[in-house]
Amino acid sequence: MAHMSVFEKIVAREIPADIVFESERVIAFRDIAPQAPVHILVVPKTAEYANVAELAESDPGLLAEIVGVAKQLADGDHRLVFNSGPGAGQTVFHVHAHVLAGFAGSGGLEEGTLAK
Ligand code: 5GP
Repeated sequence: MAHMSVFEKIVAREIPADIVFESERVIAFRDIAPQAPVHILVVPKTAEYANVAELAESDPGLLAEIVGVAKQLADGDHRLVFNSGPGAGQTVFHVHAHVLAGFAGSGGLEEGTLAK
């Protein structure tokens, strides 16, 4: 079989993940190396799109679903990050949104911390 991304393997239940949401076209699970109190990846099941720009161009409805799922799972203030390209820290070239949330306990994030 052709190369499957790590996220396709999670969709296929070939590798385990802490899945918190699933619909016909989208899956969401906790990041294996969390960088925030809540760190969830929201991922289209299709591996057709490497980054958010490709997804937006070809299937804006699917991107809207991802954003809606992210909002629902964050349950409050959050950051929604789509790394695009290795120079921006992307390591899995199957588009995914990082939902970073749960900052209220530490007083919230400050302005100017976006790329730190
Ligand atoms: P990127 O760096 O491409 O924006 O994000 C990829 C993310 O996928 C990273 O935050 C990394 O921790 C996460 N990740 C990589 N492999 C796995 C895995 O097998 N399971 C889970 N749950 N997350 C993974």
